[in-house]
Amino acid sequence: MQVKDIIKELELFAPPSFQESYDNAGLIVGNSNDAVSAALISLDITEEVVQEAIDRKCDLIISHHPIIMGGIKRLNGNNYVERSVIKAIKNNIAIYACHTNADSVKTGVNGMISKKIGLQNCKILDPKKNSLLKLVTYAPKANADAVREAIFSAGAGNIGNYDSCSFNTEGTGTFKANADANPHVGNLGELHQEEEIRIETVVPAYLKNKVVSALLKSHPYEEVAFDLFPLENVWNEVGSGMIGELPEAESELDFLKRIKKIFNVGCIKYTSLLNKPVKKVALCGGAGSFLVNKAKALGADVFISGDFKYHQYFDAENQLVIADIGHFESEQFTKELFYELLTKKIPNFAVCLSNVNTNPIKYL
Ligand SMILES: [Zn+2]
Repeated sequence: MQVKDIIKELELFAPPSFQESYDNAGLIVGNSNDAVSAALISLDITEEVVQEAIDRKCDLIISHHPIIMGGIKRLNGNNYVERSVIKAIKNNIAIYACHTNADSVKTGVNGMISKKIGLQNCKILDPKKNSLLKLVTYAPKANADAVREAIFSAGAGNIGNYDSCSFNTEGTGTFKANADANPHVGNLGELHQEEEIRIETVVPAYLKNKVVSALLKSHPYEEVAFDLFPLENVWNEVGSGMIGELPEAESELDFLKRIKKIFNVGCIKYTSLLNKPVKKVALCGGAGSFLVNKAKALGADVFISGDFKYHQYFDAENQLVIADIGHFESEQFTKELFYELLTKKIPNFAVCLSNVNTNPIKYL
């Protein structure tokens, strides 16, 4: 097994292009061609975690938070980041981070939190914009099925719970091949008319190259005519946070007590209770305060996240209850998420969960 085999599965689940601009998800230490025998999964990386990888004979650490976020100009071992990286390199341990890309996918960090709380009918709280394209292409009638099939297999044509979505219209294509051409139909130097199908479908922007390459491979023409248009539509499958419903409404206090237990929170910080039952729950693992207004607009009764600053609690405005359950606590099940994914996809590969509690915050 090579590092890249493990990365492939992680990136099929959480494509790296879904990470935020400030992020540094990906292979941070090591080479993707390095051999790998076992992976250790952790939320954060500290020297203790690297030591654990050494002790448990793991040559890859998969973390949620990237150990390097800003630039590093020196590696002198002057802080825990440098020391962790040096220790990993000296011991031939690769480090891979799956961060905001795992936050953005529906079955990622927030999907896991929703599952733990027992939410139903979950939707992305703030779907990603500018992430869809429209592909229009023209195929000879006899080849339209094969072209459609190829682009669908490459990831085009998915809308919610539907795949193979396209719109097709018949028309006439014209072309005149010059002396250097080798046309699939028609003769050199003669204007040719061909019955064609105009195929329109939707493509996630990150799959553009894959879909175009599938189109070119499956299309019989030497020069394939196709157009890609950026779409204003939001893509509901990818984005920040999650909103869903409890199977049965709970009182605010009962709900918060249950959350405290599920996430083993030392102390939940929350805003005034509104004395109404909790049914709709919005959430975001980690630092999600930027989503409060979205949660309010969608009618959430409670918004669960971490890392709220004092003034941000005022944003509740008696429209919902903000519950700060802590950054670490809210994301703790991400380890389980990576573990479940890898043991399912690569059953013959050893994956261990870190036993180090990396939460730097203690409660008195
Ligand atoms: Zn985080």
